Parts: sequence; C-alpha cells; structure tokens
Amino acid sequence: MSNILSLTPDELREIMNQIDEPGYRSKQIFTQLHKGIELREMTNVGNKTKEKLLSLMDCAFPGIKKKLVSQIDGTVKYLFELSDKNCIESVVMKYEHGYTICVSSQVGCRMGCRFCASTLMGRVRNLEAGEILGQIIAAEKDLNIRISNVVMMGIGEPLDNFENVVKFLRLVNEPDGLNIGYRHISLSSCGIVDKIYELSKLNLPITLSISLHAADDATRCEIMPVNKKWNIESLMDACRSYYEVTGRRISFEYTLIAGKNDTAGDARRLGELLNRRLRGKKAHMPIHVNLIPVNEVKETSFKSSGAKAVREFVNELEKLGIRATVRRRLGADINASCGQLRRADAESIP
Ligand code: SAH
Repeated sequence: MSNILSLTPDELREIMNQIDEPGYRSKQIFTQLHKGIELREMTNVGNKTKEKLLSLMDCAFPGIKKKLVSQIDGTVKYLFELSDKNCIESVVMKYEHGYTICVSSQVGCRMGCRFCASTLMGRVRNLEAGEILGQIIAAEKDLNIRISNVVMMGIGEPLDNFENVVKFLRLVNEPDGLNIGYRHISLSSCGIVDKIYELSKLNLPITLSISLHAADDATRCEIMPVNKKWNIESLMDACRSYYEVTGRRISFEYTLIAGKNDTAGDARRLGELLNRRLRGKKAHMPIHVNLIPVNEVKETSFKSSGAKAVREFVNELEKLGIRATVRRRLGADINASCGQLRRADAESIP
C-alpha cells in the first residue's frame, strides 16, 4: 500500500473524489499531514473518512525505533522504522542559520563504495517519496522544530531511485506543505551519469554534490565500483553539462583515506582535473571541495588521514585556486555517519 505522504495535492484530491468526499477536505488533510498531524489524530476529519482512507493507503508516519542525541553538539540521529519493519536513518544537525536534516533515499544501497557502511548489506528496496518526506515530518514533530535545509546524504543513492526522489523534491517544495525552497536542498550522488543528465533537464535549482573521492580511474574503481560503469571523464562531462544547463555550481565531496587518496600528489591531480574539465573558456564553474576525513567503519580497514596530511591537501588545492573546506564532524559520539546505526541495529537482532 502506498503511503499517504507520497501523494501530491492533486492526487489526494483525486482519492477524496473516489471516496465521495468533498474536494476542499483534501487540502485540509494535506496541510495537517505535512504539519505533523497523523490522520488518526485529526479532529476535523470523521471516522468514516479516516476508515476509507486507511483501507486505501498506508497512513502512518515513520516510527522512532531509536533516537541518539550527541552530548557534544546536540546532533540527533534517528533510526526510523517503516510500515514493513525496514529501518532507515536520518540525522538532524543544528547550525547558526537553523536546522538541517540528512535523509535516506533507499533501504540499503547497491553502489558498493568500499568505505561506506550503508552498502554492506546491499539494497533492500527504494523508498517512496512519502517515506523520504516522512523522515522530515517525523523529526520536526518529535523535536518541535522547523527544519530549513535538507541534504540527501543518508542511506542510499538518490539517483538510483530517480522518480521517487524527484517526486519528493517537488513535495518538500509544496507551498501548502513544508515549503522548503529548492535552494535549501542538496542532493549527493556517487555519479550515475545518465541520471545527472536527466536531472539537469528538470532544471530544479537544488545543489548537486558529487562524491568523487579520487581523481584517477584506477583509485576510484578500487574504492567506488560505480566508476567501472561511468568513469571520471564521463562524470566530468556530465558535471560540465549540468552547470551549463542549470547555472548551478556543483560541490565535490572527497573522503580522505590514509595511504589511498590523501597525498599532495593526489591533491594536485584532483585540482588539475577540476580545473581542466570545469574551468575552461566556456564554462567557468566556481568549484568547492568538501574534504571528509573518512569515518572509520569497523567492517572496513580504511583509516582516517592525519591532521598534517589534511592540511597539506587543502594547501595544494588552494595553490591551484580551488576552495576546500574540511567537514566539521557533528555527532561523532553517536555514529552519525552513513548507515552505521542501521547496521549496528541489524547486528543486534539475534
Ligand atoms: N549515495 C550518495 C549519498 C550518500 S553518502 C553519495 O554517494 O553521494 C553521503 C556522503 O558520505 C558521500 O560522499 C559518501 O561517499 C560519504 N561517506 C560514506 N561513508 C563514509 C565514511 N565511512 N566516511 C566518510 N564519508 C563517507
């Protein structure tokens, strides 16, 4: 059964017509759902209507199975349980300008990045649009806050669940719903090239982040199997085209792994690649690189680069005119990175 949060206002109106309810009620229900009021809690909707809707749709929000609050910075990590008992993770972070949520887009992931905990058990299924949206609504309700920014950097590869993710982007932007502007939404991808072209055609002013993690094909293939299908050159072509079509700059994520991709030579290769492919005469993309010292996952042997290597990496990039920042680690005490909590929870099931 499809989740009621997956419906656009028009689709909900259509369902209300089907069950002989007046159209104006659908707006009432849509607005309340997106404010965090579950169907069963609504006092202005009759029991008959609720029953009819419940017979057609899954009307539940994601349930909070676990909630961890960082003692260091207040970051909150949720393990949400969906109606079919599958679990996903979301993280809420507080910044000066407001709250940001990191949402999951799939149950598990099939991309196989070697350093990532989300992919260890493969992909179970895609999330519906409403299950992605439900993470935001459930977190806002639990914390009694308004979330202003969304990053799609949780479990899953968003572009491997393209239609549901695009529907989610449109839903989160609904004026009668959460009304979060596209400019406050980032989508992170490991580089599914054909879908980057498809996304650019939609021309949504979201921020696209590309998880690059290596500047040569041999190293990237070793840590990111997706590179065997879409190599770095084809990915750079797609990034360039994305910028030319949408005018939106792309940010690059680069996880620093000791002895794998973190030398001064690696930094130069990265800077030269980005300059050569994205900053020619025609397209001069402002480039930003986010450096992330790898979070050590116990199932993998990757070790985080030391502070000196990180500093040197930043310096080399700056010499080539590329701005780089080292990602602040929020929620370090609560396993806040990608897939670690779902993994730990699955292990605890006998
Ligand atoms: N599938 C998408 C989004 C999810 S991951 C993507 O690949 O971009 C969000 C970011 O966290 C990605 O850049 C990913 O490569 C990175 N990441 C995953 N595991 C990590 C780890 N153990 N340490 C540091 N970064 C990690």
